[in-house]
Amino acid sequence: MAAKTSSFVTEVPLITTSKDLAVLAARLEAGRQLYNAVLSEGRKRLQLVRDSELYQQARLIDKNDKKARNSAFQKAREAYRFSDYDLQAFANKTAIASVWIKSNLDVHTIQKVATRAFKALERMAFGKAKKVRFKQKGQFSSLEGKTNKQGIRWTGNGVEWSRLKLQAIINNDPVILHGLNSKIKYVRLVRRILNQKTYWFAQLVCEGKPYQKPQNTVGDGIVGMDLGVSTVAIVSDNETILTAFAVELISKQKLIRKLQRKMDRQRRANNPDNFNSNGTVKKSSKRWNKSNRYKKTAAKKREIERKQAAQRKSSHGKLVNQTLKLGKHIKTEKVSVKAWQKKWGKSIGFKSPSSFQSELVRKAENAGGTVLMFSTHKTALSQTCLCGNKQKKSLSQRVHHCSVCGLKMQRDILSAYLSRYVDPKTETLSIQLARNGWLGMEKSLLDGWRDGSNQRQVLQRGEPPQRTGSSARTATSSKSPISNDGSEWMSSNLIAREKSEPVRVNETRVVS
Ligand SMILES: [Zn+2]
Repeated sequence: MAAKTSSFVTEVPLITTSKDLAVLAARLEAGRQLYNAVLSEGRKRLQLVRDSELYQQARLIDKNDKKARNSAFQKAREAYRFSDYDLQAFANKTAIASVWIKSNLDVHTIQKVATRAFKALERMAFGKAKKVRFKQKGQFSSLEGKTNKQGIRWTGNGVEWSRLKLQAIINNDPVILHGLNSKIKYVRLVRRILNQKTYWFAQLVCEGKPYQKPQNTVGDGIVGMDLGVSTVAIVSDNETILTAFAVELISKQKLIRKLQRKMDRQRRANNPDNFNSNGTVKKSSKRWNKSNRYKKTAAKKREIERKQAAQRKSSHGKLVNQTLKLGKHIKTEKVSVKAWQKKWGKSIGFKSPSSFQSELVRKAENAGGTVLMFSTHKTALSQTCLCGNKQKKSLSQRVHHCSVCGLKMQRDILSAYLSRYVDPKTETLSIQLARNGWLGMEKSLLDGWRDGSNQRQVLQRGEPPQRTGSSARTATSSKSPISNDGSEWMSSNLIAREKSEPVRVNETRVVS
């Protein structure tokens, strides 16, 4: 096997005539049928492996003796020709037997289809998937080559693939140009249906690292982050940001919910026999009658979901870049959708906090940074005060106000601040270090709190903030009417709290 080098994908849209579309559709269909044939054969072989004496013996070998165990399993697989190589051979044979497949696919594409089926079977063999899925019409939407020398290949301004020449739309986007200037390992063709129209894209799998936008400079410091359902607090060495988390997705989520209810009503109206008198679905096997109106609603919903997904990606990406600008060594609580759903209800998953976090990890590590994700159970930062006092807060309490020492701070900012002092080895908070750091950072934390409150007011009412634009954050320290005197800061602290509170109403509405 070739040594693994890092790679990234550059995607460009292709220009297709209706004739091209017909050719591509036929090739895709040939790929789908071949995939299913290989999957079916591979599944049979895997079953034979599992039933074999060799396999049963391999299972009896001591689990600690990995080498002996693995080689015994390997022998069982070899005996029934269950391998990537053997399934590629099977795919070649199948293609030769079918003039239609052979005329639509080249050798390399055929082998990659076989490898794809083998990988699906491997997931099942290793218990990572319960079963393999045969691809129904419409579920198979990509084909790829093996190298950029034969089969599907990139020619510099488009894709060529046995008699098919497709020109790409290339703009001056530096991200695309960086990809085009890199070494191309192989090319994947992807079909997408947008707004019920078919489009084809070329994904160039390039060698090396993806383009780094120059404005995405990466800071060196430590960043503490607290990611909440509606807000995120980011605390770096000298800047604090309190901002909304993926709020732009809410309006589309409302639309999706509306369409879901509509689909449910339509489904009930079209299939009255499939429901019990209490409105639940009957358990017996049944046929679902899908009206044209229902299909139309479903297509509309898919389109909005696609847009929402794109919006989510860009929203997450912006926040990740904003964070990395402040520092590439990140400390944050591990967030799971499940934990969110426990607190906030099922409908909150569309914000995908975990995909945000994995994006953060990926980009931070790409930039040479580190990410510490600690368990919330161990640290319980949201209950902890600088003085060491632990106090449970209700979800609606957005301000930490300690009954022992009197400390007052927006709760997400305080959690993010404390995150900075979680020890990576023990995953526990070093409260002494947090206390030592406080004096130097308090002003930045209060700045962030006030700016965040102003910004959230805007989000709610759609009005401009008192201090405008993104320059507000930097402007506060110099132009602020409030002096740097400690007591004055306390009063601004109070103003900010009042402003931040109404946001809760908004949050609960999203959830319900
Ligand atoms: Zn305290």
